[in-house]
Amino acid sequence: MAERVAILGSTGSIGTQALEVISKFPDRFSAEVLVAGNNYEILARQALQFHPDVVVIGNTDHYPQLREILRDTNIKVYAGSEAVEQVVTSSRVDVVLASIVGYSGLRSTIAAIKAGKKIALANKETLVVAGEIIEKLTRESGSRILPVDSEHSAILQCLTGETGNPVEYISLTASGGPFLHYSTERLHEITPKQALRHPNWDMGSKITIDSASLMNKGLEVIEARWLFDLSPDQIRVVIHPQSIIHSLVHFADGSVKAQLGIPDMRVPILYALTYPERLPTDLPRLNLVKTCSLTFSEPDLIKFRNLSLAYDALREGGNMPCILNAANEIAVNAFLNGQIAFTQMPDVVQFSMEKTEFRSSPDIEFLEFSDRSARDVANSYISKLNI
Ligand code: NDP
Repeated sequence: MAERVAILGSTGSIGTQALEVISKFPDRFSAEVLVAGNNYEILARQALQFHPDVVVIGNTDHYPQLREILRDTNIKVYAGSEAVEQVVTSSRVDVVLASIVGYSGLRSTIAAIKAGKKIALANKETLVVAGEIIEKLTRESGSRILPVDSEHSAILQCLTGETGNPVEYISLTASGGPFLHYSTERLHEITPKQALRHPNWDMGSKITIDSASLMNKGLEVIEARWLFDLSPDQIRVVIHPQSIIHSLVHFADGSVKAQLGIPDMRVPILYALTYPERLPTDLPRLNLVKTCSLTFSEPDLIKFRNLSLAYDALREGGNMPCILNAANEIAVNAFLNGQIAFTQMPDVVQFSMEKTEFRSSPDIEFLEFSDRSARDVANSYISKLNI
C-alpha cells in the first residue's frame, strides 16, 4: 500500500518539490494531507491535481475562497493552526513532511511526533527551538525523525551501516552564499534583492537570507547536535562554494566518508521518505569530470557573526537557541522590509540574546514565552535603530 504523506507547507519550495517527487512514484506515495499558509489558489490547484483527503489553509481569512474552489470535490477543507495540529495525527497519515517555514512549524511538528508519526523534517527551526524536548517526545512516542536538509541527509547517509563506530567529528559544508568574498563595507550595502539570489539553491526567501548571512549554517549546527547526538565541538563547518559535497563524517580511525551529488533538494526529500531504501530516479547526475574543482576554506566568523552566535547559543543551551531563532526571524523580516542593513542582522540577534530572560531547563510553555519575549526585544532594538 502507498505511504500516505501529509505535506505541511505544500505551496513552498520544499513542499512543491516534494509533490513533484511523490508524483513520480504513485505506487509508493499518496499526498493525503496538504497544508499551506496563505496561498490558497496554489493549494487548490495542488488539491485538484493530487486529490488529498484533506487540505488546510493556515490563514482562516482564505477559508471561504478555498472551500468555494473545491466545492465540487469530496476533499475536506479546514482552516487555522489548530486544524493543522489535528490533521497530522490522523490515522490516515503515515509520514509527515514538516516543511512550514520558521517557528510557525513547531506546534504541528510536535503534534505529529506525539502521535508517533514518521517525520521527514525540513523545518530545522523545530530542533533549534526545542531540541531537547523533541528528542524526549520522539523517544516516548516511537516517532522517527529523518532529515530533509541536504547536509543532514548526507550525514545520515554516511552514518548508515556505521552503528557503534566512533565519530570524531562531522563537517557540515556551506556554500558561503553569494557574498562570501565581500568586504564588511560591501556587505553593509547589500539589498534584499541581491541577497535573495542564491548561487546554487532555489529556496524560500527566509532560508535564502539565512544562507547569505550564514545563520542557516548556524541553525544547521544546532539541528545536527540533536539529530546525531553530538557535542558542539564535534560539529564543524567548512566553506565549499560548489555545494557538491553535502557533508562529511570523520571517524575515529581516520577515515572520512562524504556524500556527493548535484545540489537538488528532490534527492534528500526522496531519501527522507524512503530511508534506508534508495529508489531509482531520472534526476540530473553528477559528472565528476565536468565538475570544476572542489574547494574548501574556513568560515569567516568575524564577517559572518551569525555563525558564531549560533555556536554560542548551542553551548549556552536552555532557551538560548529559541531566543536566537526568534530574533533572527525578526531580523530577516526587518532586512527584507528595508528597515535594517544586512550587517545589522547579527546585532539584532546578539542584543536579543543578551537581553531576553535566560532559563537553563525550559519547558515548552517557557519556550513559547521566550519566543514572544525575544521578538519583542528584537523589535524594540530595531525601532530604536530607526529613530
Ligand atoms: P517557503 O517560504 O518556500 O515555504 C514555506 C511554506 O510554509 C509555504 O507553503 C507556506 O505557505 C507555509 N506556511 C508558512 N507559515 C504557515 C503557517 N502558519 N501555517 C501553514 N503553513 C504555513 O520555505 P521553504 O520551502 O524554503 O522552507 C521550508 C522549511 O524547510 C524551512 O524551515 C527551511 O529552513 C527548510 N529547508 C528548506 C530548504 C530549501 O531548499 N528550500 C532546504 C532545507 C531546509 P504559503 O506560501 O501558502 O503562505
